[in-house]
Parts: sequence; structure tokens; C-alpha cells
Amino acid sequence: MNKYIFVTGGVCSSLGKGVAAASLGSLLESRGLSVRMIKVDPYINVDAGTMSPYQHGEVYVTDDGAETDLDLGNYARFTSSPLSRDNSITTGQIYQEVIQREREGRYLGRTVQVIPHITDRIKQRVRAVGDQEGVDMTIVEIGGTVGDIESFPFLEAVRQMIHELGKSNVLAVHVTLIPEVANGELKTKPTQHSVKELREIGIQPDILLCRAPVPLPDDLRRKIALFTNVENEAVISAYDIQSTLYEIPLMYHRQGLDDTALKLLGVDAGDAELSGWERVVQVMTGSDHVVRIGVVGKYIELSDSYKSVDEALYHGGIANDCRVELVKIDSERLEKPDADVAELLGGVDGILVPGGFGGRGVRGMVLAAQYARTNGVPYFGICLGMQVMVIEFSRFVLGLEDADSTEFTPDGPHPVVSLLEEQVDVKNYGGTMRLGASRSRLLPGTRIRSIYGREIVEERHRHRYEVSNVYRQQLNEAGLVTGGVTEDYSLVESLEWPEHPWGLGVQFHPEFKSKPVESHPLFRAFVGAAAAHGAGRQGAAE
Ligand code: GLN
Repeated sequence: MNKYIFVTGGVCSSLGKGVAAASLGSLLESRGLSVRMIKVDPYINVDAGTMSPYQHGEVYVTDDGAETDLDLGNYARFTSSPLSRDNSITTGQIYQEVIQREREGRYLGRTVQVIPHITDRIKQRVRAVGDQEGVDMTIVEIGGTVGDIESFPFLEAVRQMIHELGKSNVLAVHVTLIPEVANGELKTKPTQHSVKELREIGIQPDILLCRAPVPLPDDLRRKIALFTNVENEAVISAYDIQSTLYEIPLMYHRQGLDDTALKLLGVDAGDAELSGWERVVQVMTGSDHVVRIGVVGKYIELSDSYKSVDEALYHGGIANDCRVELVKIDSERLEKPDADVAELLGGVDGILVPGGFGGRGVRGMVLAAQYARTNGVPYFGICLGMQVMVIEFSRFVLGLEDADSTEFTPDGPHPVVSLLEEQVDVKNYGGTMRLGASRSRLLPGTRIRSIYGREIVEERHRHRYEVSNVYRQQLNEAGLVTGGVTEDYSLVESLEWPEHPWGLGVQFHPEFKSKPVESHPLFRAFVGAAAAHGAGRQGAAE
């Protein structure tokens, strides 16, 4: 039926627009519709690949190797929309594409302008996804806040699409803030202003998602409806959820968001099937079995920098009927001369070292891996976290004191992790980033093979350095065993400690493919092992 829902934000940023859009997507899917998700980012960067995790949170990687905004991760967790380069649009890309066409002479000498050329290109990009056969609804989240200079061309494109396709085919959802002031009073004025601003651009919102710390009283909802020209039932109270963000689809459903959206678009759909979400919430809030996972990394203070890893750990918990508590440990703390590693890591049931770039904090990660290996604590290394296993094992088991990745020590005596071109037996491979999905072959008799239960798996990559083939055999023989390789056997994809309760590293990023209703097998197995380790520790203490 090819209908569109645009989600804009008002008042201020960080209102959880991405999760709101994703939750609406999940509700529409639960009613049997085929949904696509698109994120529009008004910044001029062409993609998120070069953006610092400090500024921007995690970079989410798609199968086709696009480095995108972390909201695509929310889409992946909440919906089954296919996600690729097509689903992430930035101002940078739109301008690049228009300028490219201009250089090719495709505008036939006309003056190239924001309206219509930029706006046309925006509409083309959106409709290239949403007009495909079999797609029912396309939800487009417009990043930024209404009123920002950068988002104007996108909002203008939205206005045009409403005009061209008609109100029954396009819905405008606005996420806004109802702040609480002294003595707990909720204020609607900022919302009135932001809707006014939207209407000045020519967009009348059909649905308001009102973020507030508490549920909105009915009289306030009616007041907002009256001031904004939105139906009473379409003013939805998006109050703060204390438990888990996976409750948000259920909260919206209880207020009839999916019914309202479908009614406004004139769509008949089946009943909502939400038992999967109910189970997720029930385990995450109800289970009294808690597993503590230490995540040892360097961007720890920023809560979104390992978003998909954090979520995948929760999913692993759900699959094991337990609640995962994350203990974030800044790896640099482990490096301090007076740091007591055993004390800092002693309280966790499992240790995960996630991906990362640059040498800062790596020594602390190596200490974490060493602690896990020598104390029988389950360890899961992802990308850099697997390379750390190699460095640790080379230094402390092989006795190659100065072993390192050439990323951190370019001219060291033992480059155990290096660029392919630096490895003697592989030539002309180039030092570019391996990005996106590729296949791995899991070797018989390994832990990873038994976890996946199959030989060939496809996972996403985002890295430049590889385990050196020069040291591969030496490492394997000493007990850091290769569990997975690239399909042609040329590169290491996974390593494990066979004599250990659970120690495994992967060069790829399984976290991008984990869902709350369907945990990734590696996270399920890791959290399961951590739970067993925790139970063993408790047993020993009693
Ligand atoms: N910095 C390492 C590399 O480029 C690891 C990358 C990562 O963890 N994503 O290979």
C-alpha cells in the first residue's frame, strides 16, 4: 500500500525519537504490515563512519557496509525492516548526489537550487525505499529539531510529499516535550510553540508523542489537542519508562497508537501480536536472577558508545531467563599503577571487551583478558577485544614481551596483529577497512562451531587490522585456538581458549544482528556461561 509516516522532533534533541519511530514500526509489524525504516540525518557528514563515538555514540554497520547512525540499530532491534545504505540519508549525501548530477550536466544548464533540486532528491531517496512492491508502511525519522536550519530542506520535502500523496497516504508524527517545572507542574507551552513552528513550515502533525516524566492527565491531553489541532486520541503520553525501553511499544499500544495511525491512514490490519515483547519485558523486569557483565572499554562514560553490545547482552540475558546488569569499566582505570585488577574485576560474572580504535586504554583491556584467562572468568572479545586476546596471549604465554598490534606499536618486534600488507605471506591486499557482511567458516570441534551449529556464518565487519598469519600457528599450538576463518581460510575470524570455561573472540560484530526477541547465539552462550560462573562463585561462597 506504500504509505509514509514521517517522525519529527520538537523542543529539544534527545527525546528518544529513534526509539519512538522504531516502536511504532514494531507495532505496525505486529499487525501484519510490512514496514521499512529510514533515518534522515541533517548533518553534512556523508556518513557516521568518521564521527567520534564521544560525539555521536556507536556507528551502526549494515550488511552492505554502510556506517550509519545508531538509530538504525534501534530499527534493527525493534523491527525486521531490511537496513542498508538506502535507509540512512544525510544532507552530505544528498548534496553530493546533486552536485555529482550537476557536474554530469544532468540539469541541462538550469540553476541548481535547494527547492526543487535538493528537495526532489530527498523525495527520490525516500520513495526509492517506500515505493517498492510489497512495502506497506515506510517510517522516516527526521533527525534534529524542528526549527534547525539544517533540517529545513527535509521538512520541506515532507510537506511536498503530504501535498502530492494526500493526507490518507502520509502521516506526520511529532515527538515533543512536556517539561515538569517546580511543584511537579507539567507545561504545554513548548509543545504549542513547536507545533506552531511545524505548521508555519506547512506541516500539520496528525499524532503527537508527548515526552514527559509522568503520564499526562486527561485534561492536559485535551488542552494540547485543542491548541494543536490534533485529535484527542492522537495525543499520546510518552512518559518515562523506568524498566526497559522494550516496554515502549507496549506503552504506545495501550494508548492505541497503532489503531490511531491505521485509522488516520485508512488501513485495515490484523490484531496486534505482542507476546514476544511481553516476554522480553517480563524477564527484564521480573527475573530475580541477575548476571553481572563487566564491559571493559575506553568510551565507557558515554552510555551510547557501545549501544548494540549493551543491548545484545540484555538479549543474551532474556534468552537465559535472567537480568543482565552491566558494569562499565574504563580500561584506563585498570592501567593505573595502584589499580587492583582483581578487585576491579572481582565482582563480575563475565568480561566483555568490545571494539575500538586507537591505542588508549588497550593495556587495560589486555589486563582484563589476562585476568579472565587466568581466573576462569568467561570472556568475550569483539573485534578489538579479540585482537586483545592475541596480544595478551603473545605477551604472557608465548613470552613475546613487546607483542602488539601495529595499530599501537608500528615498528615493534612482534607485530601479532597487523595490516595485511605488513604480513609477509599475503601481498597486495591493501590496508583498507573491511566493512559489512562477509562469510566465516567455523572449524570442526571448536566452541564457536557448536554455538552456531553450522559451518558457514555471515557477520558484519568493521576493522582494518588482522591477526598476523606469521604468528597464527605458534598461537594455535600454545593454546589460543583458531575457531573460525574467512571462507577461503586466509584470515582468522575467531579465536578461543579451549581449556577455559568460556573464552572466545570474534573479529566481526555479532551485536549488530541481535534482537530482544531473538538473541544472537554468541551472546546467549556467553551470558549463559557467565550465569553458570556466577552460580559457581555463589556456591563456593556459601
Ligand atoms: N582497531 C581495530 C582494527 O581496525 C579494531 C576495530 C574494531 O574493534 N572495530 O582492526
